[in-house]
Amino acid sequence: MRTNRRRFFGQTGVLAGTALGLPGIGRAADGPTAEPHAKPRHIIHMVADGMCWSTFSMGDTFSHLRRGRGLRWLDLYHEPQATVTTMDMRSLNSLVTDSAAASSSWGSGSRVVNGTLNVLPDGRELIPLCSLFREAGWKRGLVTTTEITHATPAGFAASIDSRGNAQMIARQYLDRRVDVLLGGGHKFFDAAKRSDKQDLYATYREAGYTVMRDAGELTAAPREGRWLGTFASSHLPFSIDRDHSTSLKRKVPTLADMTRRALERLGGEDHFLLQVEGGRVDHACHACDIASAVRELVAFDEALEVCLEYQRRVPETLIILTTDHGTGGPSLNGIGSAYGESSARFANLLKARRSFESMLPDLPKEPTAAAIGELIEDGTGYEVPDRKMAALLGFLDKQWQPLFDGMNGQEMQFGQLLGNHYGVTWTSGAHTSDYVPLLAYGPGAAKFRGFQRNTDVFRHYTTLAGIDYRNPEMPLMAECGPSAHEVETDVLPV
Ligand SMILES: [Zn+2]
Repeated sequence: MRTNRRRFFGQTGVLAGTALGLPGIGRAADGPTAEPHAKPRHIIHMVADGMCWSTFSMGDTFSHLRRGRGLRWLDLYHEPQATVTTMDMRSLNSLVTDSAAASSSWGSGSRVVNGTLNVLPDGRELIPLCSLFREAGWKRGLVTTTEITHATPAGFAASIDSRGNAQMIARQYLDRRVDVLLGGGHKFFDAAKRSDKQDLYATYREAGYTVMRDAGELTAAPREGRWLGTFASSHLPFSIDRDHSTSLKRKVPTLADMTRRALERLGGEDHFLLQVEGGRVDHACHACDIASAVRELVAFDEALEVCLEYQRRVPETLIILTTDHGTGGPSLNGIGSAYGESSARFANLLKARRSFESMLPDLPKEPTAAAIGELIEDGTGYEVPDRKMAALLGFLDKQWQPLFDGMNGQEMQFGQLLGNHYGVTWTSGAHTSDYVPLLAYGPGAAKFRGFQRNTDVFRHYTTLAGIDYRNPEMPLMAECGPSAHEVETDVLPV
């Protein structure tokens, strides 16, 4: 059946949609999506934050090892109706973007300076997608494994000159009535933790929100009204740590759990825009922790499965899969004679049990070789050879520094050390300038054909929603390098 359907739409679907100008008509319950030239009623924007191409490749390889199948994201490359392309994510002031400028470029259609959210350097505030879509009658949701106030969700809903002002972002979400907010970041809503001592939960409840604090409450939440769920004080735990902890598994929902519930809540609405962020791929890569990063990608892929399942039932759903930048530049290296050892080293990732984030606080103040060795072996399965341990101790004692300043950090040196175990090493613990993958699937996917500029995403979403609005833009800052491809990509009919 599947093959027949594919063939049918592969041959006729695009032509029919284009020539006849048909609207996005729903297909059979388990059928493929509506035509890529049609207009969606639902848009799901999925971001695997901080995932460069090599992390993508390694996530797929790890998925094969762990689950006996690759990433669903890559399966979609076979779908004739999927648009697969690449995007330039630079910010206004740098070839290397941060998450705030990246998400703002999608959220407002303007490039801004790193660290700012939908505010131009001259102070002009930009109107983000969540506000514009609210005016147009669309419900709006943000789901993430980071603090809900973090840069990527905030780029769709907040306008503020500092991404660090999470307390204000928490207030802006309320003022702008974002319908579904699920992630971490309890401390920015809690009266005991906020600097102004305001109980933001109470204010949200007064505004009609259901507030939830653990997985059980998420499951029990009524499928109506607005939702605020904060399932950790800061970010949600890494999947690798959650998977090895019974109490975390009981209390903290996965990205797939949150996505499923968000779709159950929003699914009855005529129109919605939902951002789903696998935000901790980025955090794992900042920490040069590949074992955590690949598991976060698999968790993201499980959330994608939930979205595809939804799309099968509601074909007027456009799914966008992308990332905002690379982080850490990890790669599996050729090791041994004829590179014959690389695969076995990579398979050592299956032995890892803990994130660096959970391991490093367990290091004694003045760590000994024995204590470090035990910690690393317990968390990763790696028996550190004496010679490597001596080098690590030299770094921890500050007797020596790495030649590249960007590698000067405890996690980064752990990451390089574990490169001997996993075969994977890093360029730094910072973001990188890579062009990123983008896949569009469903009605409206045709808009994304050709090399994309980050700001095109805003243009496509507003056009698909029938919103005629453009935010002001400013020219790239003079000192920040050449402009990348400034091509007109929106040349296909709607
Ligand atoms: Zn990011």
